[in-house]
Amino acid sequence: MQNAPFLAEIKRETARRRTFAIISHPDAGKTTLTEKLLLFGGAIDMAGAIKAKKDGRHATSDWMAIERERGISVTSSVMNFDFNGYAINLLDTPGHQDFSEDTYRVLTAADSALMVIDSAKGVEVQTKKLMDVCRLRDTPIITFINKLDRDGRSPLELLDDIEQSLGIEAAPLSWPIGMGKEFKGVYDLRQAHLRFFDPQAGKGTRPRETVVIQGLEDPSLAELLGNDSAADLRRDVELLDGAGYPFVMEHYLTGKQTPVFFGSAINNFGVKELLEAVVDLAPGPRPRTANLREVSPLEEQFSGLVFKIQANMDAAHRDRIAFVRICSGQFNRGMKLRHHRLGKDIKTSSAILFMAQERCGVEEAWPGDIIGLPNHGTLNVGDTLTTGEPLRFLGIPHFAPEHFRRVYLKNPFKAKQLEKGLTQLSEEGAIQFFRPVNGGAMLLGAVGALQFEVIAQRLASEYAVDIDLLGTTFNAARWLFAESKEQLDKLTREHSDALVTDAAGHLVMLFTSAWMMERTIELWKAIRFEATRECA
Ligand code: GDP
Repeated sequence: MQNAPFLAEIKRETARRRTFAIISHPDAGKTTLTEKLLLFGGAIDMAGAIKAKKDGRHATSDWMAIERERGISVTSSVMNFDFNGYAINLLDTPGHQDFSEDTYRVLTAADSALMVIDSAKGVEVQTKKLMDVCRLRDTPIITFINKLDRDGRSPLELLDDIEQSLGIEAAPLSWPIGMGKEFKGVYDLRQAHLRFFDPQAGKGTRPRETVVIQGLEDPSLAELLGNDSAADLRRDVELLDGAGYPFVMEHYLTGKQTPVFFGSAINNFGVKELLEAVVDLAPGPRPRTANLREVSPLEEQFSGLVFKIQANMDAAHRDRIAFVRICSGQFNRGMKLRHHRLGKDIKTSSAILFMAQERCGVEEAWPGDIIGLPNHGTLNVGDTLTTGEPLRFLGIPHFAPEHFRRVYLKNPFKAKQLEKGLTQLSEEGAIQFFRPVNGGAMLLGAVGALQFEVIAQRLASEYAVDIDLLGTTFNAARWLFAESKEQLDKLTREHSDALVTDAAGHLVMLFTSAWMMERTIELWKAIRFEATRECA
């Protein structure tokens, strides 16, 4: 029996958690929107503060030199803030196409996603890839079509693009009136509110008040918008009634439909409505599947999942932070948690929360919250922490790399440093390293090729190890599993040149073409060739 006051408290706290990831193709306005969301959350004082603090010690995103150089966000970051009585955990995802594995993991820690689309560009390459990642877990997605202050595609065309290119129903919950220079505002289809756009109002201050009208037949509509715009709006909404998808909560929650909002992040327009929709519509923490059973967030026992490791976040401290998504129970600072993979307890007295640019100590946290645990290599991606039961949450895999490089040390005396650096960096999850079973130079594998440059640079700056990376002919990998060791031994004897072991010692086979891979799989029927492997 659970204790009743605790149950009431955990129900209340869990119900007010919203943990969502923000995703977009680069340049659609993710950073700008994040800033404005934090502004509404009171997490920063003035929009732009995050950017202005980019070089600061605790800047949450774009903090590495390579990120600044390339203007991309390589790492994901976490931001906690409050809004309308809700505790929001906002997870940033890397915008570059190379980091889909990292993005996948961030999405496993989120309960829903917010997708930003540029109104002039519509669905872009990266939007599609992110959608594919969301689909793997049927993540519910809310869409924000941004930059309505510029001339873009017509709203109907954009909805059609979302449906055709992403294969998801688009259900508009707001409707834009004009665009570019003619952009007048949005009509809230749920509440029949009219919200005016005032380009002067959004510059860091609060936007103009909403005008409530009694539906589209309200005579004040024409007075407010002018006859032409009022007629256009009536016609559009009529069209939508006939052709568009009505919003169905169940379809949204199962990832079949995305509610769509229009606005302009830079002008802080439509952002508050968006945040209101997130707290209103987006799901809070739900039960999660572990090896032994399904775990409800409302259980008294604490459980959490490590979904990301970030090394040396703060160069001054040379620390590693494990990002833990709380799945059940209450977290209290200092509580002892069981690390089942290592079979030992870990202390949590230095647990932190991420408030916009600052990190601060966390006293208590609840299901849905993301906390950081500084550690020295004890925690890996995929690890589960509990107050006792040996649970292991599933669904955080390694993906088979598609790009490979051989690692050559410039200074052979640094072999130990290299090993340490690669072990730690691979635990962050963006690269994997492999040892050939025949010996010789180690191999790095990544899902996206840009990772190699990042790793070489980080090895140099954080571990003082200079390396050369040489290309290989491999372009695919599979983890090998078999009932009989004999078969694996036989394969090892016949194909030792293509066999490597990963950081955890698992046998992996590398291939030079998809054709070679198919042929091998065909020939070795007693062996399973897997494209993913659970991390822990
Ligand atoms: P990210 O790469 O998705 O994070 O995009 P950013 O937030 O950095 O925005 C990319 C560019 O679009 C920047 O120059 C922003 O100032 C601009 N931008 C963002 N939102 C809007 C908007 O609502 N209207 C206009 N006109 N530009 C915007």
